Amino acid sequence: MRILKTLKELRAYREFVKGSIGFVPTMGALHEGHLSLAQKSIDENDVTIASIFVNPAQFAPNEDFDKYPRTFEKDAQLLEDLGVDAIWAPSVSEIYPNDFKSTVRVSGISEMLEGVSRPHFFEGVTTIVNKLFMQVQPSRAYFGVKDYQQLRVIQKMVEDFNIPIEVIGCPVIRDEEGLALSSRNVYLTPTDLAIARQLNVILEHASVLVKSMNVQEVEKQLENDILKAGFDKIDYITLRSAQTLEEIKTVTDQEIRVLVATYLGSVRLIDNRVVI
Ligand code: AMP
Repeated sequence: MRILKTLKELRAYREFVKGSIGFVPTMGALHEGHLSLAQKSIDENDVTIASIFVNPAQFAPNEDFDKYPRTFEKDAQLLEDLGVDAIWAPSVSEIYPNDFKSTVRVSGISEMLEGVSRPHFFEGVTTIVNKLFMQVQPSRAYFGVKDYQQLRVIQKMVEDFNIPIEVIGCPVIRDEEGLALSSRNVYLTPTDLAIARQLNVILEHASVLVKSMNVQEVEKQLENDILKAGFDKIDYITLRSAQTLEEIKTVTDQEIRVLVATYLGSVRLIDNRVVI
């Protein structure tokens, strides 16, 4: 497996490899969720490139950029064992030289939910993903449904800019009790972990609740259940159109997802599930 650290190395590698290229962008601290994306890419492409880059542009000053877990050696071993062909691991200065001035912004879908709580976030994500797409020039790119809004924002960017890359959403990988795997789960204390593991059960219940309650009542019930489970604060708990992420007034035959962002102490957890 090649480890590419400069654009020059990446360009030389891209000229050298042939066939379809699958790309898996990550911020490292890899777990089974990331590895499932890489495995799908390996299965579907001739060559798989994973990137590891903790993107400063998507963290606000009060967020955890400095203490975000960095485990490069372990990550590289996991990717190599899986059969990934190359890791693109640029430095911050390689990606954002001092005179870097451009941003990519997708309005609408990036301004709700995560975009309200973290106004800088999606601009940071779309700017880096756009840049990584241009650098790596893959045939397909793999993202987790775990970050459902992020997946939809990236699909919109690709559509709007006619980027010739197929963006593929991959299922959420959960632990044995259903907690969505996340690099940030390492921050949870054992007590908080037990609380966090109830979240998926509460979300799953939404599919039952919609049969006897209206949308607002379901959201209220889920909010009560989350607080009762021991979460400290809720950012949002909402039923949305899976397609547009717009609010829904009534349950019709369109696909609906329940999306949540909640806190245990200073740890922010997000999750989502299909309701109908
Ligand atoms: P991150 O390193 O957290 O930026 O995530 C990199 C990619 O892995 C994103 O496309 C995430 O949606 C995806 N991902 C993170 N956690 C999971 C999970 N539990 N299951 C599936 N994909 C995931």
